[in-house]
Amino acid sequence: MSGIYVHIPFCKKACHYCDFHFTTNLANTKKMTDSICKEMEIRKKEFSSNYNSLYFGGGTPSVLAISEIKQILDHLSKYTTLSQQIEVTVEINPEDINEVLLSAYRELGVNRLSIGVQSLNDEILNWMNRSHNQEKAIQSILLAKKMGFENINVDFIYGVPGYPNRNIKEELSSLLSTKPFHISCYHFTIEDKTYFGHLKKQNKLKEIRDTQSEEEFKIITYLLCTNRYVHYEISNFSLPGKVSKHNTNYWKKNNYLGFGPSAHSYHYPYRSWNVSNNVQYIQQVSTNSFHPQKEKLSDIDHFNELVMLGLRTSEGVNLLEALKLLNEKNKSDFKVNIDRFLHDGLLKIKNDILVMNKEKWLLSEFISRELFILN
Ligand code: SF4
Repeated sequence: MSGIYVHIPFCKKACHYCDFHFTTNLANTKKMTDSICKEMEIRKKEFSSNYNSLYFGGGTPSVLAISEIKQILDHLSKYTTLSQQIEVTVEINPEDINEVLLSAYRELGVNRLSIGVQSLNDEILNWMNRSHNQEKAIQSILLAKKMGFENINVDFIYGVPGYPNRNIKEELSSLLSTKPFHISCYHFTIEDKTYFGHLKKQNKLKEIRDTQSEEEFKIITYLLCTNRYVHYEISNFSLPGKVSKHNTNYWKKNNYLGFGPSAHSYHYPYRSWNVSNNVQYIQQVSTNSFHPQKEKLSDIDHFNELVMLGLRTSEGVNLLEALKLLNEKNKSDFKVNIDRFLHDGLLKIKNDILVMNKEKWLLSEFISRELFILN
């Protein structure tokens, strides 16, 4: 299976922590929509027929007019057949959610929303420069459910510095009162080219202590798992049957096609990415000089990525598949490397699947790095 990703690089305002590619100048949404359609035409030979997910991400896709989303969908259907079963997700912010928009999305075939809630504490939302408050966030999820959406993800951020008395339990309890079908909980990071990055450079903001992060992670995991959510990836929890197909394609290293500025595509063993600049992107596409950057992954790169992504998931790493990528020397190095983690109980192998002890998932990045084979 594989997926399609469409990057919509516009936001109404910039959140202080965000380093995704977007602009707050909304003047060129029509030109951008035309350019994304043109890119699809240029790359029409790359389409296949077995997609299980179409994902509009960004940025904030909900800033596009309905007619612009429709234009992209109509264009896509010229090059591939999107079956009824395909997961069609639109990222949306709570303040954009209203009945008219949701019913238009449903008519267009959008069957999943990913709502950027982030927190249910108004002080934190304000500090992050988000446009909604906790009341609007709750109302937006309830309205989406009332309008018939049976698959809704909610993004939530933990590990926020400067709020040692943040009541994560209370926030999650109100979130759980709306019973979203899927919850992605991401750790707050201070990215260089953001407002918070700027504060960090001036020593006005520091990352949270590891012990507090761990404490919050434990509370989140406990609360969600005791409320029937399945913790299937380090940052992701789903009610039964609502696992994200979009994210799963990425973790399984399935192929995907990405359109729009900064979008990445993957077709084993090649990865490519579009320019992260709206003006250059539009110009490249309109002057037939579209040239994404491209790299070929070596077998070792591919192996390292399978390990890194697999250890983050409850499905783990399929060793039969992964070890085929290594020569005998690298295989034996890898076996030596995993031994100490098997011995410590951080990793285990069952039926040729290597999985991490979920209780220690926060260490997965460290362990992956220890297991990497050098090129
Ligand atoms: S978090 Fe979302 S809404 Fe905020 S700036 Fe980033 S992409 Fe835009």
